[in-house]
Amino acid sequence: MRYVSTRGDATERRFCDILLEGLAPDGGLYLPTRYPRVDAATLAKWRPLPYADLAFEILSLYIDDIPADDLRALCRKTYTVAVFGSPAIVPLKPLETGVLLQALSNGPTLAFKDMAMQLLGGLFEYELARRGQRLNILGATSGDTGSAAEYAMRGKRAIQVFMLSPKGRMSPFQQAQMFSLQDANIHNIVIAGVFDDCQDIVKAVSSDLSFKRQWQIGSVNSINWARLLAQVVYYFAGYFQATQGQAEAVSFAVPSGNFGNICAGHVARMMGLPIDRLVCATNENDVLDEFFRSGSYRPRTSAQTQETSSPSMDISKASNFERFVFDLLGRDGPRVRHLFDTELRESGSFTLSREEMARIGEFGFVSGRSTHADRLATIRDSWQRFGVVIDTHTADGLKVGREHRRHAQRMVVLETALPAKFAATILEALGRAPDRPPGFEGIEGLPKRFAELPADVGAVRRYIERHA
Ligand SMILES: *Cc1c(COP(=O)(O)O)cnc(C)c1O
Repeated sequence: MRYVSTRGDATERRFCDILLEGLAPDGGLYLPTRYPRVDAATLAKWRPLPYADLAFEILSLYIDDIPADDLRALCRKTYTVAVFGSPAIVPLKPLETGVLLQALSNGPTLAFKDMAMQLLGGLFEYELARRGQRLNILGATSGDTGSAAEYAMRGKRAIQVFMLSPKGRMSPFQQAQMFSLQDANIHNIVIAGVFDDCQDIVKAVSSDLSFKRQWQIGSVNSINWARLLAQVVYYFAGYFQATQGQAEAVSFAVPSGNFGNICAGHVARMMGLPIDRLVCATNENDVLDEFFRSGSYRPRTSAQTQETSSPSMDISKASNFERFVFDLLGRDGPRVRHLFDTELRESGSFTLSREEMARIGEFGFVSGRSTHADRLATIRDSWQRFGVVIDTHTADGLKVGREHRRHAQRMVVLETALPAKFAATILEALGRAPDRPPGFEGIEGLPKRFAELPADVGAVRRYIERHA
């Protein structure tokens, strides 16, 4: 399997070449040259497999530069009951008839990002050891990504993590999760500024190519293909649990921000998994819903991005969206380059033609949005009718998923975080705080380890030079 850029650079690269890279050199995102098709016989063979072995089967269709035994061992080391809390790893919980929640948030940081990040930690460690290299991961976080990355990379000898976060903006729980880590290779850096300041510093440091090379700066952001690939696996696992074995189609509802999670669903569907609809659910920051309704993609400025009670979906632009557009436009790299480079730069938005939008149906995408009031109502309803407390992001997915469920068909709603992470809104909805999973009691009181720096590129650079 080889990988090419969405913007027309057709240089073919192998999996381990793109593993440690972010964007392709032409500014595009990497995608495989084709999606391997999985037929009914293969689906039947995969159905009874444990999660780790299913992961191995899917990954090995896309990775041919890691020996099979090593890749299988990596999958088995990653997806364990000890780390993810149950033998199914991603168990389904039934709500009303035809609606099921798929639990993706029982990993170390209680959000679905662990599903991919835990594997990425193993892949990075493996490949760096093979090359005799070290890596300094630099990232910015407003919550879930940073903690998932730190828990995946902690204690890995060839890796240091430098994670910037805006002062006082994360929930106390999220902050405690990150800052209580005492591992020497984890560096929490609090920036006197907002999330965009953190993001700008990461961009400035990473675009200084000589610094980047000298200090082996890497990233773990959501455009990384390996993260997306790891997420493809749980669509198969969810499908197998929701169906009995006939060629039955199910739909998935996905709380979306950067379009990474649902893009993995798109890949699974392109591989031939019988997915009917992919329901893209947004919160008040509805860039994606607007696109699916109108054909116009209009990224917002940071001033236009609202702070909501499903904060991990508060995005101004959807960084993985370009991958889907590439497939929608028949993999026309020059056209994608024109839209995402020229048009976005010159006019801040683009609109697809009616003929181009006519193909959307073939890809199964539909969308909807959810507001703070919807979240409160959905959380309350799930508690009252089913005794299930869901988090705010999952509530967005559930609300929009129900709007798109076809009669007599199953709708699997991806649970992207546990409610314990967003206690304030749960308290507002239910008048009581969510339960905390064992091991998380009192984490706010643990000793904290972090450095505080001004919103200044030079200061961050010097910090990396001293600690790398
Ligand atoms: C990251 C995140 C999302 C959004 O996922 P994308 O892959 O960016 O679309 C949704 N919910 C939670 C809890 C998250 O952490």
